Amino acid sequence: MSSFSRYVIGFSLMLVLSACTLTADTLHNPISSARSRATPLHFGVYVTPDNGPITPPEQFIGFHAGTDYEITADELESDVPVFAICSGEIRYSGFTQGYGGLIAQHCTILKESVTVLYGHLALDTLPDLGSAVQAGNKIGLLASARSNDSGGNRKHLHLGIHRSNSSDFRGYVQSKQELADYIDPETVLPSFPLFGSTLAPYWQELE
Ligand SMILES: [Zn+2]
Repeated sequence: MSSFSRYVIGFSLMLVLSACTLTADTLHNPISSARSRATPLHFGVYVTPDNGPITPPEQFIGFHAGTDYEITADELESDVPVFAICSGEIRYSGFTQGYGGLIAQHCTILKESVTVLYGHLALDTLPDLGSAVQAGNKIGLLASARSNDSGGNRKHLHLGIHRSNSSDFRGYVQSKQELADYIDPETVLPSFPLFGSTLAPYWQELE
């Protein structure tokens, strides 16, 4: 092989590696199979108790300030782990109206200081306040459907990224303008979009 060929191959490899590093070194998907999981309740969708992409519809009114990851039927009764999407400190860990179990984590995403919200988690699986977690660390399990820990909701993960270091934990906002205070998770996570969701969502009420 000529030294020129070696140079071209080496340079190409370097380009590929740096591209991977730029996109994948900081953020981790918050749930397994994130690429194929159904996420019908996208960022910015307006919902009311009578209207929305979820069955039965969400009890909330407003513009969805995050992304919801749905479970499969198989996961209704099994443990579904949630992972930190970034590295940073846990600033809130406990019960919050509407969410049940909620974690708020301080992170820097795209050089911006943000608060990442993970909602509808089982309270006894949450990390301690003040603990430092790394991207990809397991930080809890999804709460059971229609339980106190899920805030009475279906079993699913609400992921929100608020553009501040505050304790604004809203999952819905009442005006489109306020959505600008949040980052759409689908624009920064490595999970979107590839082939679209292939796992059927499961959100029925428990009998
Ligand atoms: Zn949500």
